[in-house]
Amino acid sequence: MKSTKPIYVTQPALPELADFIPYLEQIWDNKILTNCGPFHQQLEQALCDYLGVKHISLFTNGTLALVVALQALRITGEVITTPYSFVATSHSLLWNGIKPVFVDIHPDTLNLDPDKIEAAITPQTTAIMPVHCYGHPCDVERIQKIADNYNLSVIYDAAHAFGVQHQNASVLNYGDLSVLSFHATKVFNTFEGGAIVCPDAKTKQRIDHLKNFGFVDEVTVVAPGINGKMSEINAAFGLLQLKSIDANLQKRQKIDSYYRAALANVHGIHCLGDSGETIANYAYFPILVRSDYPLSRDQLFEKLRDNGIYARRYFYPLISDFPMYRSLPSAAPAHLPAAQKAANEVICLPIYPTLEFEQQQSIIALITGN
Ligand SMILES: *Cc1c(COP(=O)(O)O)cnc(C)c1O
Repeated sequence: MKSTKPIYVTQPALPELADFIPYLEQIWDNKILTNCGPFHQQLEQALCDYLGVKHISLFTNGTLALVVALQALRITGEVITTPYSFVATSHSLLWNGIKPVFVDIHPDTLNLDPDKIEAAITPQTTAIMPVHCYGHPCDVERIQKIADNYNLSVIYDAAHAFGVQHQNASVLNYGDLSVLSFHATKVFNTFEGGAIVCPDAKTKQRIDHLKNFGFVDEVTVVAPGINGKMSEINAAFGLLQLKSIDANLQKRQKIDSYYRAALANVHGIHCLGDSGETIANYAYFPILVRSDYPLSRDQLFEKLRDNGIYARRYFYPLISDFPMYRSLPSAAPAHLPAAQKAANEVICLPIYPTLEFEQQQSIIALITGN
């Protein structure tokens, strides 16, 4: 039976509305709406505990958190990054007057290829900004080694990596800073939101100043900061969401396993494997549509869409193909063959906790042709 309701690539997992009311009552009672109030502080602590990280600073969204992370470490000049990501990764560099230098991805993981990083380093390079694409950890050890050798900072765009563990510890503990997004489309959401994970209290303090106009106290401003504070209503929603995160991750895992089993022997369809995470978050289900599949990637994408399945071509086009980037020497398609290939083959299939088994079966049937 074909489903008549449209199925999107993701759908937020919402708690019971009634369960949110007590949080709202508390806000109405104490009249603290923002400025790092009680829910903001509670969520920072709860996320540190849940994720297994030392310090977290909450933000209004992930993009602003990326912009501030670069400011916090005073990054300038050139930053090595991946073209295979959401545009916000590179936009955060442009907002800081930094020149992005694109390096190709590894064809197996679709993450920044560590073998290609060193050739892109120049005297202007100050940092590397990799992305844990689809929540699969980057080669964090090798990236750190390169950064140490050349005295570079590492800022991870960890927007996809909520809850992901690498070798029994949070992947968010690698690098100098990691940035999370809590946008509605992400595994854990606060409607809009984001955070910076940082290793020490001093860095967190600088970040906390930067997200509050640079204020240290009522009369002291130490930096040209911005307003990036998460509001109390978003923080309260985050606290409530955190209660169901494990159950939601389990539902995602079941959907992931079923796709993998059902698509394993389909000619021309390649499911991206895990890349060594101890705990994954099943945030996305990317498939690569290869030339031995009967349809082109776009034909399969359109076939799904014509049947009410709104899969997404994440990440197509590449960041390096957008007009504000494509004239950079490092953006030349010939310089980024693995990224170009992935962008032309990828489709992310629907995966979210409330995706029904019958819906998933109908998606699989459209792909297998049965
Ligand atoms: C979602 C996302 C962002 C931006 O986060 P927002 O909270 O939407 O600003 C940045 N980078 C990547 C890789 C993302 O997927």
